Amino acid sequence: MSSEHVDVLVVGAGLSGVGAACHLQVECPDKTYAILESRGAIGGTWDLFRYPGIRSDSDMFTLGYAFRPWTGAKAIADGHSIREYIEDTAREYGVEDKIRFHHEVLSADWSSADARWTVTARRTDTGETVRLTCSWLQVCSGYYRYDEGFRPEFPGEERFPGEVIHPQHWPEDFDATGKRIVVIGSGATAVTLVPNLADDAAHVTMLQRTPSYILTQPGTDPLARILRSRLPANVAYPIVRWKNVLATTALFQASRRWPGAVKKVLRRLTEKQLPASIDVDTHFNPPYDPWDQRLCLVPDGDLFRHLRNGTASIATDRIATFTETGIQLESGQHLDADVIITATGLNLLPMGGMTLSLDGEQVDVSETVSYKGMMLSGVPNFSMVIGYTNASWTLKADLVNRYVCRLLRHMDERGQAVATPVAPPEGADLPFLDLASGYVQRSLAALPKQGRRTPWKLHQNYIRDVRLMRRGPLEDEGIRFSSAPVRAERAVA
Ligand SMILES: Cc1cc2nc3c(=O)[nH]c(=O)nc-3n(C[C@H](O)[C@H](O)[C@H](O)COP(=O)(O)OP(=O)(O)OC[C@H]3O[C@@H](n4cnc5c(N)ncnc54)[C@H](O)[C@@H]3O)c2cc1C
Repeated sequence: MSSEHVDVLVVGAGLSGVGAACHLQVECPDKTYAILESRGAIGGTWDLFRYPGIRSDSDMFTLGYAFRPWTGAKAIADGHSIREYIEDTAREYGVEDKIRFHHEVLSADWSSADARWTVTARRTDTGETVRLTCSWLQVCSGYYRYDEGFRPEFPGEERFPGEVIHPQHWPEDFDATGKRIVVIGSGATAVTLVPNLADDAAHVTMLQRTPSYILTQPGTDPLARILRSRLPANVAYPIVRWKNVLATTALFQASRRWPGAVKKVLRRLTEKQLPASIDVDTHFNPPYDPWDQRLCLVPDGDLFRHLRNGTASIATDRIATFTETGIQLESGQHLDADVIITATGLNLLPMGGMTLSLDGEQVDVSETVSYKGMMLSGVPNFSMVIGYTNASWTLKADLVNRYVCRLLRHMDERGQAVATPVAPPEGADLPFLDLASGYVQRSLAALPKQGRRTPWKLHQNYIRDVRLMRRGPLEDEGIRFSSAPVRAERAVA
């Protein structure tokens, strides 16, 4: 067994992992911890993605940490500023020194006899294998594959002689000047890329098979501007944060209750921003209800501005084949292109690809049930951060990270060493995520299930979760505690 042991081992140094460490630092100062990060940098998503215009698509007052005000001018911020914010937070909280870069976690095995995890990592710089033990494992590895974005095969690809680029692997030296560019996709990445490339390109066409709902939001928050000029940051920030929580919750709940009415409002808002030549019902009328998939935000209507001034256009059609000069659509239209960008999404990857085992027996995560959206039935002393799909990721990450600290302190006070969630007695059959988006649907089979009631149900509702996780009891029917190491029993759905 390895000689190095930490109380808590965090996997990943992105927004969630750095947040977890800050909470540990402040709320559990007696605990030892380390962060293993497979890349050579802090920031995760916000360091990896480098395409032009990369930005958040939720506001920074909720994507920022509850404990450290976002003081940037923009509410919808660029990737670079978000990376800096995460780095500055890590520095300010003394977390930087705890990060071990180039450590990719491959597996973790729980020993019931020792009540600890043995974690195996591979050094991505030297190839060396490293082993550590920990009493608690906190996985903050995000939700998608870093090495490869999702990229369907298109017919006739070999015919196209120009560059085909996936936004996850953006070439540093790319120059859009004077080029005719087709961006395939209709999600957050496509609607970010189109206006940003259109500034320099000869023309940009957004080619989508299915439209998305797109909502314009001010790039800077008017309330934040006023409050910041009159109040200290730590007073203004939570006010704007709660205003945005309530606004996004209200829009989501309204979409669920009155989808037809919300659809109409979104259609009207979109139509107002379009030139007469672009038909709202052809290009901005998705065949699903608002929030069945994530809603796309565009800051200050930048996408619509480019559609109006003609530097960008939109096509809603199916690809028949790539050609020597661009893309032939099934309708018969041809899109001329020098460059094609496949903004076709992510490959979901639960727990950064690592495997879990209990006393040598591998855990099939798809057979487990999530407890409060952060632990797995039958898996002791383990937690993970998966953010909201209908609100900013960090709202949930903050709740989970705080909850883990509460739980650790609670266990210490009561002399308990092991916390193991159990599956609901009636079983659980709901998928972990209820988004209709392709990247979610492609991966549901590999994710845990959720139950139909608290504490196994994921409410995707911050206000409810605040009550449950910040103030709610730590002991309930969904979790068992034990003081002395006992053999972990696997509870499955
Ligand atoms: C382009 C893009 C835009 C987004 N915009 C928003 C937005 O506006 N609002 C929002 O709420 N969400 C957004 N998201 C979701 C986004 O991923 C989260 O907001 C947030 O960045 C997640 O932070 P994280 O730390 O949990 O995960 P990540 O940012 O993915 O970081 C995970 C870290 O874990 C490391 N890691 C992974 N596996 C291992 C392993 N096995 N061993 C060691 N280290 C590992 C990775 O290298 C990485 O550094 C966006 C996602 C993308 C891709």
